[in-house]
Amino acid sequence: MAKARRQQVAERAMGRCEYCRFPEELDVQPFQVDHVRAIKHSGPTTLANLAWSCLPCNAAKGPNVAGYDPEGGTLEPLYNPRADSWDDHFAWEGPVLKGKTAIGRTTIEVLKINAPDRVELRRLLIAAGLF
Ligand SMILES: [Zn+2]
Repeated sequence: MAKARRQQVAERAMGRCEYCRFPEELDVQPFQVDHVRAIKHSGPTTLANLAWSCLPCNAAKGPNVAGYDPEGGTLEPLYNPRADSWDDHFAWEGPVLKGKTAIGRTTIEVLKINAPDRVELRRLLIAAGLF
């Protein structure tokens, strides 16, 4: 991917993961450009289909575009940073991300946003006043 396009995606996201909102400046691993609709599903490499993502979110998301709501068990699309409002689907409870909708809950589940190590890292950063 062209360096300029990567830069555009990063700047649009203001340096935060567009899924879990983790700030890139606090991450030891470089962020990645995510295809919201994966290449495997004919997703284009255009700004309208790209999102800035931390490595844990992007690795867990893989080519997935949907998942099962952990509450109702229904098949739900994943959160789409280009079409959906983050605040409509997610809310913080301390270091734990809560899904306000089926899409939010499903995305948290598939992307493993509340994996114990990730919650613990956010807890430490909150205690340090950094998150
Ligand atoms: Zn993330």
